[in-house]
This record gives sequence, structure tokens and C-alpha cells, in this order.
Amino acid sequence: MKDNKFNTKAIREGYQATEQQEHSAAVFLTSSFTFDSAEQAARRFANEEEGNIYTRFTNPNVQAFEDRLAALEGTESCIATASGMSAIFATLMGLLKAGEHIVASRDMFGTTIVLLNTIVNKFNIEVTFVDLPDIDSWKNSVQTNTKIFLLETPSNPLGEVVDLSLLSALSKEHNILLAVDNCIMTPALQKPLNFGADLILHSATKYIDGQGRCLAGAVAGSKEHIDEIRSFCRATGPTLSAFNAWVILKGLETLSLRMKAHCENALKLAEWLQNQAFVQKVHYLGLESHPHHNIAKAQQSGYGGIVSFEVEGGKKEAFRIINNAKMISITANLGDTKSTITHPATTTHNRLTEDERRKSNISDNLVRISAGLEDITDIIADLKV
Ligand SMILES: *Cc1c(COP(=O)(O)O)cnc(C)c1O
Repeated sequence: MKDNKFNTKAIREGYQATEQQEHSAAVFLTSSFTFDSAEQAARRFANEEEGNIYTRFTNPNVQAFEDRLAALEGTESCIATASGMSAIFATLMGLLKAGEHIVASRDMFGTTIVLLNTIVNKFNIEVTFVDLPDIDSWKNSVQTNTKIFLLETPSNPLGEVVDLSLLSALSKEHNILLAVDNCIMTPALQKPLNFGADLILHSATKYIDGQGRCLAGAVAGSKEHIDEIRSFCRATGPTLSAFNAWVILKGLETLSLRMKAHCENALKLAEWLQNQAFVQKVHYLGLESHPHHNIAKAQQSGYGGIVSFEVEGGKKEAFRIINNAKMISITANLGDTKSTITHPATTTHNRLTEDERRKSNISDNLVRISAGLEDITDIIADLKV
């Protein structure tokens, strides 16, 4: 399967049919597995024989998803988790110890920032936040105890981008692991491994499921690193359920088709928004006017489905645009077939301090849309005021 192209892997990699010869994957809803003999049980527990023991460790559906995602990201290994947050937490806790240091982009998913500031900090792991695109500030933040660079590129909601090749050169020079949350692009549009990333994090809740049905997460990387994270997960239990693994395995099969369609709708939406009197500024990487358009073009094969814009006026006007929408769902979720709209300052980024929001340019007049797969004319019609 190694030489197959992306879509073939997305559809065929990972799952092996049982003796029932089912064409679509079976669901293995079982907490544990039995052994042929006491000897076999002993061998499995001693790690002398491969095979399932207990679903907190392995499950065929979870493993199929892990193998398929590893194939798509191009990594040696992958571990699935119950959510995107547990993927991030397990990565940090699995690989770091007290006294070590993280340099992190300040423009990350709100809960990731909260996790770093409130929980990771409690374990005496220090965090320095930097501006995502500014390589010098990453460089100047490196300490002798720095272990991980953590970031999302492009960032959400504003679509800032860091040059991954430059950042990975810096991380390698200092023996630092480069961890990239690839949730917004997915491997269909960006393969961080090709630009030197060591760990690729996912909230599979978003585009990988793509239909808003369940929570899931994953970390892809070298066998050595993933094994360390796996040990953490086996002992702490943020396991992905077999059923959710089955759902997102199906999600992968249509991933690149869906991402292409999300990109097309997002670009049309961004172009339309640019010409509206109620819009002050549009943030979409696919527009040549976006300051990071060219870096994005070099390391992504598309610009994704997230479009943000600043309205004329403030929060009141932003709320008016949101409340005016009749079809587009008012929800903070993204990466769904359904278009969604939200006010980042009071939802996804509400737990940041005002100062943090200001530094991240999350202004009160900012609105974010995750362009879904409805007909673009209907999405646009819903935004007319
Ligand atoms: C949603 C999201 C997460 C968290 O994922 P959950 O599945 O909700 O736990 C992490 N990173 C990014 C970029 C996200 O959008």
C-alpha cells in the first residue's frame, strides 16, 4: 500500500476484513479480548506476542484509524485519543517532565491556551508565548530546557502562517520537537512532516469526521515518540471509543473531496465579503491580499474552509450579522458540512484575557465563518443584510 496515492490510502489503508468478509468495516464494541490459553495471555501481557488485550490499550477500529492516518500524514506511527484536547495533553505530558519548557504560538485554539496556562503550568512546565509567523521571536525564546515548539498553522480564526521549514531548521538545531496541530488543514491540504515537523496533532472532531458527529483526536509521529505518548495514554485512559473510531475512519474516506469543496466555498465567500459595505476587512489565506498568502501557497495545497472578517462597527454590529443568519448555524464548532458562524471574542476565545485577545488580534468586530458544503449561493444569501 506504500506507493498508493492519497485517496487510495484514505479509502483502503488500515482496515482488514474479518473472516466474515465484510466490505465496510465491522464495529468492535468490546471492552476486552480473550486468549486461547493462559500461556497466550502471558505472552500478550509480556509484549512477546502482538494482539489485543483490552480496549484501553488497543482495539481493531482504533488501530485501523491510527494506521490510516499515519499513512496519510506519512508518519511511522499514530495514536488516537478521545478528543483533540486529550491528544494535545497526552503529547505534552507523555514527552515532557517538570522543569522543561515549551515555546508556543499565542494564536492557538482557546482551550489549548487555557491548558498551557492553567494545567501544564501546575506541573512546573514553563511556557513562553510567541507570535506565530515571527521566526526571530521563536529563536529568542529558546532556553536550554526547551523541549517542544507547539503551534497551529494556519492559525484560527485569522489564518496566520509560519514558515515550517525555517522553524524546523531552528528546532532541529536546538534538539527541540516541533509539534504542529494540523486540524484546520488536515493531511489533505498540508503535510507538516514534509517540512520537518516531528509531531502532528489533530482534533479529528473537525474536518476528519467532517459531519459534526463525534469527538476524536490523534497524534502522528515517529514510533519512538508515539510509543512514549501511548504509554501515557495506556496508564491514564483518554482512549478513543471503537464506535467513534469507526465513524472517523469513514470520514477519512471522503476527506480530500470534502476539503476541496470547503476551499472552493470559502474562497467564493471571501471574495463576496470583500465587496460588502458592512465588511471592513476579510481574513482568508486564499486571497492574494492576505499577508501570508505566499507562504501558505508554498506549504499547503489549499487554503481551507475558515473565513473571518471584521465588520464596520463593533460587537453590536458583529452580533447583528450573526443573528441575521437564518440557515448558517450559530455554533463555535467548525469543519462541518454545515456552515457555522461565531463571534470568537465571546465564544472560542472568551477565556483569554483582554490583553491576550488584543495580542492575538481577536477584536470585538471579528466574525468567523466555517464554510460548509451547502450551495455557495445559499450561504451568501444568508449573510446579506
Ligand atoms: C477543536 C480544536 C481542538 C480541540 O479538539 P477537541 O476535539 O474539541 O478536543 C484543538 N485544536 C484545534 C485547532 C481545534 O480547532
